[in-house]
Amino acid sequence: MTGPIFDTHAHYTSRSFDADRDEVLSALPGAGVVGVVDCATHSGDAAQVLELSHRYPFVWAALGIHPQSLIEEDAATLCRYGGDWRRELEEMRPLFEDPRVVAVGECGLDHHWPVPAQPQLELFEAQLQLARELDKPILVHDREAHAETYALLEKYRPRGIVHCYSGSAEDARRLTAQGLYLGFGGSCTYKNARRALESLRAIPLEQVVLETDCPYLSPQPVRGKRNHSGNIQYVGELIAQTLGLAPETVFETTAQNARRLFGL
Ligand SMILES: [Zn+2]
Repeated sequence: MTGPIFDTHAHYTSRSFDADRDEVLSALPGAGVVGVVDCATHSGDAAQVLELSHRYPFVWAALGIHPQSLIEEDAATLCRYGGDWRRELEEMRPLFEDPRVVAVGECGLDHHWPVPAQPQLELFEAQLQLARELDKPILVHDREAHAETYALLEKYRPRGIVHCYSGSAEDARRLTAQGLYLGFGGSCTYKNARRALESLRAIPLEQVVLETDCPYLSPQPVRGKRNHSGNIQYVGELIAQTLGLAPETVFETTAQNARRLFGL
């Protein structure tokens, strides 16, 4: 057994866990997992995220609206209000009072998928304001939208995590100097991950957190299979090797970082 593994970004409400969700989650402590933050992506999966966080003592909830929930052709299946994010957010609002909710997110900006530009900016900004109002950390999705994302983070100065960090080492330094944490997962074990490893070398380990984004982004050597939090062992080992540290140091420090950020 490895660990302690703290997975700061998971999606166990994904349909790909429908057949064996409880089996997978029940097995995680045996694989060294001590914490999971499960992220909602719209009002439609928020209740189930909360339910998981109440059923498993090591699971906490993050609630937010993912930019992809604004894509029109996906809206019918991805969210309840067909891209009307104001109604979505309104419906989710009372759920933030649940003590198992430790963060706002997943939210952010995405220029990889055809997400409408102006609405996603407004939606992200609304959630930055919400995080400030609730005094909770935010979980930020930034896909091919670095400049706009960093500008808004600079403007609002939230506590939180830039998840699946894919920017430059220089930006990593700037974001961590601002107090943000950067999340690293399976993609930093891939062949073209030089940039992510450079970023890891450029910032304090005290601001690194580990994540899966499961069911997506399985690390080598299980790439292509459905991901789960136990697979973070491969990510932690690679980071330890990159930084010349013992794996236990990486697992223990990153788990502590997550607990500090989420106030656990
Ligand atoms: Zn995610």
